[in-house]
Amino acid sequence: MKEKVALLRCENYDVRLIENKIREGFDLLGGEGFVKELIPESSKVLLKPNLLSVEEENSPVVTNHAFFEAVVRVLKDYTEDLVFGDSPGFGSSEKAAQKAGLMDVAKRYGVKFDPFVEKVSLELKDAMLVKNWEVAKIAYEADVLISLPKLKTHGMMYFTGAVKNQFGCIPGTQKALWHTRMNNGENFAKMLLDLNKLVGTDFAIMDGIIAMEGNGPKSGTPKKMDSIIMGRSLTGVDSTALRIIGYEDPREVPQYKIAHDNGWGNVLPEDIDVIGEDLQDMKAADFKKIRRTNEIFGNSNGMKLIKNLIAPYPKLTYEKCISCNRCYEVCPEKPKVIEMVEKKGKSVPVFDKSTCIRCFCCQELCPVGALEVGETLLGKIIYK
Ligand code: SF4
Ligand code: SF4
Repeated sequence: MKEKVALLRCENYDVRLIENKIREGFDLLGGEGFVKELIPESSKVLLKPNLLSVEEENSPVVTNHAFFEAVVRVLKDYTEDLVFGDSPGFGSSEKAAQKAGLMDVAKRYGVKFDPFVEKVSLELKDAMLVKNWEVAKIAYEADVLISLPKLKTHGMMYFTGAVKNQFGCIPGTQKALWHTRMNNGENFAKMLLDLNKLVGTDFAIMDGIIAMEGNGPKSGTPKKMDSIIMGRSLTGVDSTALRIIGYEDPREVPQYKIAHDNGWGNVLPEDIDVIGEDLQDMKAADFKKIRRTNEIFGNSNGMKLIKNLIAPYPKLTYEKCISCNRCYEVCPEKPKVIEMVEKKGKSVPVFDKSTCIRCFCCQELCPVGALEVGETLLGKIIYK
């Protein structure tokens, strides 16, 4: 059956404008009856924005505070029991929510905050890959989980949207361990799909008004996309986002090929009914996608030499590095792939490409964009 996804044009972060657009989206998806079925009376609704790290208000790294406010204003019509939270990749979730302006919105509207610190151990019986989990208790306990992802590029996964956003439901430092356990893109994608099944993500409303292109998810460039994308199907929402940023077939991004091949949600354009704006009109022909980061080599010794010649790698721009050590701290591998060495008067990371699992946590969390997804010459030729 086709999944309905609402695509709305919204040209700025005016709260009332976004609110009206979200209401229009719900109307297109089925109106009052649809929302009441999604949010049964008195249910506890968890809003999961993207708070990747501690960022300034209006930063394209995180879900915008005005977008969050508009969502809250709409959902307040259906429940008083709203809570929001996330667990950033680095730094405190409370600080991230405060700095980005979401905490202020929450206080004004009586939305509770949960730092995703309290955990619960769970088993996912029909897992594709991962059976045993520890996730933020609130993510499991809330009656309804609404994901509020930001439309962005991503070093390891090419793209981060409605599926990837729930990775924040894994508390704090445990996220880094998952990069080590799921040390290639395919396993990581399966893990994300299992996680969404476990926490039961019910709906997604994507902030694609100002998206991020290039060196995402933290150090890319803001890109005006004027889009709000919403629907029950996480893969449907992401697939629509991928099409407007230039992927004709969303399966070009491996996690959606895996989702499609495993019957996990609708991915193909013909299986998604995009309603609202005409998708062709919303496309950005010049969107800078992230360079390929395929992990097709695994980690076997025999493949290491070939991998070093071909696979993308964390590439340092020496001039930008502020010697903060964060890349070293977040690298999940043991022993560390990164060594901090003195070069021309400052301490900078040096990478052991043969042991690097290409999780790009270092690139993701470098505070000044000194790391990007680099391509080898041979890799460029082969991928082209
Ligand atoms: S590369 Fe980035 S994260 Fe690593 S030390 Fe330099 S500034 Fe810090
Ligand atoms: S060096 Fe960067 S990409 Fe390589 S394993 Fe460490 S964090 Fe991941």
